[in-house]
Amino acid sequence: MNDQIMQNFLLKRAFLTPDRPAICFADQTYTFSDVFDKAVHIAGQLTGLGLKKGQFAGVLLANHADTAFIYLAFQLLGIKAVILNNRLTAHELAWQMEDSNSLFLITEELFTLKGKEMEKSLSNVTIIYKENLFQSPFIEPIVENEINLNEVCTVMYTSGTTGYPKGVLQTYGNHMWSAIGSALNLGLTEQDCWLCAVPLFHISGYSILMRSIIYGMKMVILDSFHEKKTIELIEDEKVTIMSVVSTMLTRIEEELGDQRLPEHFRCMLLGGGPAPRALLEKCMFKQIPVYQTYGMTETSSQIVTLSPEYSISKLGSAGKALFPSQLKIIGSNGEVAKPNEAGEIIVKGPNITIGYLNREEETAKRLVDGWLSTGDIGYLDSDGFLFVLDRRSDLIISGGENIYPAEIEGALVSHPNISDAGVIGMKDEKWGEVPIAFVTIKKDMMEEEIIQYCLQKLAKYKVPKKIYIIDEIPRNAAKKILRRNLRLLLDR
Ligand code: ATP
Ligand code: MG
Repeated sequence: MNDQIMQNFLLKRAFLTPDRPAICFADQTYTFSDVFDKAVHIAGQLTGLGLKKGQFAGVLLANHADTAFIYLAFQLLGIKAVILNNRLTAHELAWQMEDSNSLFLITEELFTLKGKEMEKSLSNVTIIYKENLFQSPFIEPIVENEINLNEVCTVMYTSGTTGYPKGVLQTYGNHMWSAIGSALNLGLTEQDCWLCAVPLFHISGYSILMRSIIYGMKMVILDSFHEKKTIELIEDEKVTIMSVVSTMLTRIEEELGDQRLPEHFRCMLLGGGPAPRALLEKCMFKQIPVYQTYGMTETSSQIVTLSPEYSISKLGSAGKALFPSQLKIIGSNGEVAKPNEAGEIIVKGPNITIGYLNREEETAKRLVDGWLSTGDIGYLDSDGFLFVLDRRSDLIISGGENIYPAEIEGALVSHPNISDAGVIGMKDEKWGEVPIAFVTIKKDMMEEEIIQYCLQKLAKYKVPKKIYIIDEIPRNAAKKILRRNLRLLLDR
């Protein structure tokens, strides 16, 4: 690959617009010049502790302005950040540290218990707590004035919904093109301000930080999502855009009651998983501007987003591939599918990963001629809009008909007394497979009542043959349904 050289993103931004607000956290606002000074200082402290250019180093931190400064210090030094999900167990974290051959871990006292537990199995790793890092001596750092867009900037592990997590390599160019693709779709104004209430360790949060630096835009970081606080911040900080997953949007919609969001707020970017239709309709009713989007760790955040002018006419669609990217649907015969024919979604573009860390075989299987097999099923309507159905591995085939669990789950949670739902296929002599559902309920309900409700909402073959009422739907650290764990409940 040819070298593509640019000035270090933060260096350039601090030169272009030093006095603009960059990061707001806990009532404190930092300009780009402040952010630069903080990052350089931390880079000097990291240098003093022995971290060097080209290394992989783990980062396990909470949502905080300091986390953004540390990530940016890594970029100044050319250290590849292995960004760890702080909801994982010490065992899972240690596995990712080993898998990435990281020799340093930057964490904080909040995670001391996990740190101590990890220490037991990671004998050759130096664990540095941010509280100590910030007290340690400053050694003049060697700041990388230029970066190569083909160099790895971050490694993020996938959520592990379909199997073991894989370390996704994300280059500077991937982040850059992802930010460009988003701006070319959503537009960008000087007033824009993006609220980050999603984790900074996830691509949804990290990509907001990258947009802030690349666009020169203010971002507001919340330590954790809270619907009341969110509504207040949108008003007080003049937030215009926010990234959400459907559970967050549900809570905001409910909290709003008869209230409306202020005029300046222009976009709820909704991604991370299926968007229940009932939720989209409720938001439309309250004039909450929702833009559905589809993306994954491997695409460095959004790759398909519904443009503003189609948000109502194409309700339920994730949109079209962003300007820099391409998308195809491959049918079961291996050919490009016709409109409205479901198949695997494959994607290509400069925002797509160069591969999985230390997994050549998996990379070669999933990435062919630049096209990434997503493992998701969807179709394009006759106007070329993408509708995501579900993951290929979760597809239920019943009497020759394809059934997508996400659609049934969406229908179930549209019932006011059902709080959560998960659907899987069960072997059946007559039909091959039939759908069965697990639900959590707010008020006592009979199985028959739920089935009757489904019969009104879904074609008969999609109606679950059995409903199990349970206490909690198993979800992973990214809050995604673990359908394989539902299967285990069945085997018990
Ligand atoms: P793993 O790859 O380890 O199983 P994961 O795929 O859950 O984990 P992520 O990269 O965090 O890890 O999630 C991306 C996935 O989320 C997509 O491949 C898709 O299945 C799902 N997803 C994202 N956006 C949407 C959407 N708009 N509609 C439906 N599903 C979506
Ligand atoms: Mg995945």
